[in-house]
Amino acid sequence: MDSVVKRVLKDIKESSPGQEEFYQAAQEVLVTIKPLLDRDARYYDYNILQRVVVPERTIIFRVNWIDDSGRVQTNLGYRVQFNSAIGPYKGGLRFHPSVNLGVVKFLGFEQIFKNALTGLQIGGAKGGSNFNPKGKSDNEVMRFCQAFMNELYKYIGQNRDVPAGDIGVGHREIGYLFGQYKKLTGEFDGVLTGKGINWGGSFARKQATGYGSVYFANEYLNINGNSLEGKVCTVSGSGNVAIYTIEKLYDLGAKVVACSDSKGTIYHENGIDLASLKSVKEIHRASLEEYAKLHPDCKYIDAMDYPEGGHAIWHIPCDLAFPSATQNELTLVDAKALVKSGCILVNEGANMPTTPDAIEYLQKNGVMFSPAKAANAGGVATSQLEMSQNASKTQWNFQEVDIKLRQIMKKIFKSAYDTSKEYGKDGNLLIGANIAGFKKVADSMIDQGAI
Ligand code: NDP
Repeated sequence: MDSVVKRVLKDIKESSPGQEEFYQAAQEVLVTIKPLLDRDARYYDYNILQRVVVPERTIIFRVNWIDDSGRVQTNLGYRVQFNSAIGPYKGGLRFHPSVNLGVVKFLGFEQIFKNALTGLQIGGAKGGSNFNPKGKSDNEVMRFCQAFMNELYKYIGQNRDVPAGDIGVGHREIGYLFGQYKKLTGEFDGVLTGKGINWGGSFARKQATGYGSVYFANEYLNINGNSLEGKVCTVSGSGNVAIYTIEKLYDLGAKVVACSDSKGTIYHENGIDLASLKSVKEIHRASLEEYAKLHPDCKYIDAMDYPEGGHAIWHIPCDLAFPSATQNELTLVDAKALVKSGCILVNEGANMPTTPDAIEYLQKNGVMFSPAKAANAGGVATSQLEMSQNASKTQWNFQEVDIKLRQIMKKIFKSAYDTSKEYGKDGNLLIGANIAGFKKVADSMIDQGAI
């Protein structure tokens, strides 16, 4: 490993102890951009590696809110404004008990390069809270969101920092957050994306990450003389990204036989019934066990019964795998099972879902690998389209946004693919995407001086 990269990673370990996910994300980027660093010494001369791993600003705040029994509850809120070299900060908010500073930093760091890859002018940020919306009433979620925004509103703005959704933050939460922002500032502006269609939202934003992930996979298959038609797919998760990945896979002629949630996995060999899945997860916010009860030909595998060190969904035979739930959910044990079953493509819908040893194993065994930064960038790209519509006070129809999304995903694929070739790493999209994203941000940092 390059001595500068080694030193930067050592510094991260020392200055950010326990932030394992952040370390993993930084290591992946810094190690894979070696072909670029070998060609251009400016990135060393301007200390870009040392600078890019430190957030421009980190905000941590207390969120006090009142539960339905009248008791005051306390959670932590975070916003990491990582890098604004190419545009205002942009990135989602995650509400999940596992959220801590290391998780938010890993997500914010990834977001910098993902946003750069879209070709749009957006910087990288991420935020969230260890608040768990599961099992809370709508009123509790509303009071939490209002309390969270009471602090966050001081640091965001349509030209400054534009948050969006992520795990645990969907249409309901964005509504409560936006309502409170408006009340506090008296401004109706595009400060959040993922808004409702009636109040500044964009058509196709809800579908964008999932659809975009499938458009990306389609490009990758096509360039290798293959297609989605008739392919058997497994999609982990059953949230926003997973559901719209499944919807678009069906649209383009593939069949989805399995998905999962935090409690278990369903294997429906005849094909997952999308309407029924949406009803269970989007309307009733229930567990997939409920779906299995509605479909006697569907097998339910409880998370307690997963293979040691792995996840049941990747042990179900498939042609294409779409990890779309959470980080580090596809391990080496899982990668071995996928290779054994003849899987030809792993397309990341979630952020950093595949562990580094699993990526290495998949690539060594000839499995096509689409990295999250490129494959799941459709969501943030469409958020930027929402910002453009807000700025011009217009609203494009669903088809118009979907066409733009498809074009953006094609461009992202081409950028990662062509960059991999330019640097002699033929078709390695992980290297191509990291170099293309990093170069744009790093060159802009150099142009803007030591700020
Ligand atoms: P949601 O909250 O809508 O859904 C998350 C899904 O993953 C749920 O089905 C949840 O299960 C499941 N899940 C969470 N943790 C685990 C776990 N440890 N094991 C198995 N399943 C789990 O989130 P999104 O769909 O929005 O986000 C999914 C991923 O995609 C995240 O990595 C996110 O960062 C990434 N992403 C999202 C974007 C977006 O536009 N929404 C944009 C780009 C990336 P349960 O139903 O039981 O809670």
